[in-house]
Amino acid sequence: MGMASSWIDGAPVTTAGATHTVINPADGNAVAEYALAQPADVDRAVASARAALPGWAGATPAERSAVLAKLARLADEATSDLVAEEVSQTGKPVRLATEFDVPGSVDNIDFFAGAARHLEGKASAEYSPDHTSAIRREAVGVVATITPWNYPLQMAVWKVLPALAAGCSVVIKPAEITPLTTLTLARLASEAGLPPGVLNVVTGSGADVGSALAGHADVDMVTFTGSTPVGRRVMAAAAVHGHRTQLELGGKAPFVVFDDADLDAAIQGAVAGALINTGQDCTAATRAIVAQPLYDDFVAGVAELFDKVVVGDPQDPDTDLGPLITQAHRSKVAGMVSRAPQEGGRIVCGGVAPEGPGSFYRPTLIADVAESSEVWRDEIFGPVLTVRSFTDDDDAIRQANDTKFGLAGSAWTRDVYRAQRASREIHAGCVWINDHIPIISEMPHGGFGASGFGKDMSQYSLEEYLSIKHVMSDITGVAEKDWHRTVFTKR
Ligand code: NAD
Repeated sequence: MGMASSWIDGAPVTTAGATHTVINPADGNAVAEYALAQPADVDRAVASARAALPGWAGATPAERSAVLAKLARLADEATSDLVAEEVSQTGKPVRLATEFDVPGSVDNIDFFAGAARHLEGKASAEYSPDHTSAIRREAVGVVATITPWNYPLQMAVWKVLPALAAGCSVVIKPAEITPLTTLTLARLASEAGLPPGVLNVVTGSGADVGSALAGHADVDMVTFTGSTPVGRRVMAAAAVHGHRTQLELGGKAPFVVFDDADLDAAIQGAVAGALINTGQDCTAATRAIVAQPLYDDFVAGVAELFDKVVVGDPQDPDTDLGPLITQAHRSKVAGMVSRAPQEGGRIVCGGVAPEGPGSFYRPTLIADVAESSEVWRDEIFGPVLTVRSFTDDDDAIRQANDTKFGLAGSAWTRDVYRAQRASREIHAGCVWINDHIPIISEMPHGGFGASGFGKDMSQYSLEEYLSIKHVMSDITGVAEKDWHRTVFTKR
């Protein structure tokens, strides 16, 4: 069961840190054991990325694209292995991993294989009569990336692929509890022809390896996906060196149901939007804000479907909802739910942790919550939907925006003016109309406020990893230039 813990300079590496056991949260059994990396391994990985940078950044876009396109093919061919690893280390239902995590990641790799050849900038031209100006896009350099456990492969791909497409080299630290698919991604990239050192993986804990990487003097950029408090620590560590950062942090997405909405669509959308990945999704629907006339029917409809959700073995294709990631995380979710009634919340269904070794938790609906309550304001990151009503459209938008987060939100209405207003006024990086959750490689993902800044996916994400250089060339050939008079006159 012992395995290489890191991937440095194009090869698997067994590091010397303490042994870590990857646990399957569905049954508590060990999935793999490996030695954690240590800060010295971060130094080696960063040195390897630094050495590999000139070659990769100097390759033509077509050469980079060819390697990434091959990686997409290899990842597609490795689908069953990637699904098996993702399901065993996270407990996510096999249907989700097969239909969402892995094909979504393959598509994202494929997208960046194409995007590598589409660098954009202003036209090269004579913006001054005496000069030709041109824009160059250059790789930022060595990128340090830190990722969470909820979608290990997708989160790695969202960060690593635009960086590679841009010509950067990368050192990535996955969450120590879910390293498997990130290591497989590095192996597949190597098989696809990625030169040694261009993509390195160090698997270690956040406190030592994560902080060593975030604060490393010899990286050029730090990108992070994870919780808001850790993201801020990462930003502070990078700021010591003035390094560029990009942060994808927590969320608390509003789900606004206006009184003209298709109620059935809203109910089904709320169930799927709240329960995806057992609610361990930064964009999950968490705060339903429902027009008074629809409120009781919405609550009853969601509760009816929540009760029918099949919770159980993630390997079974009939399973809808897998376990939470760890026993500790389940205790956190259960604690928040159990405190909700003290703040006026009514637990309509769920709030139950089934017996057994897995860290399962039933879909939970909490109605009538107070705006000040913990379950309404803080990220729960579990299969829990909270509900409040609103009085008029102004109140709906106010409640939607009454959060420090701003990652995503949705509005449910058949009124085109309401839809336009919601898309304009909901303060979040993504607003869905009559849907909640879908993402697409061509369009950006990323938040406002406490949800971070910068984009994953799309051409916008590629730009995060590129520096813009202006090259201005004299085209007159004269020694005594007109503008010199503003500084000195030749006497
Ligand atoms: P986390 O912040 O606890 O950990 C994220 C990563 O940071 C892990 O690899 C961890 O080991 C590392 N880390 C921990 N302490 C560190 C430190 N001091 N220095 C450097 N690295 C450190 O988050 P999590 O529990 O793994 O993931 C859940 C969180 O991620 C939720 O808040 C969720 O909303 C967020 N998330 C956001 C997005 C997005 O796109 N905005 C996507 C997925 C998850």
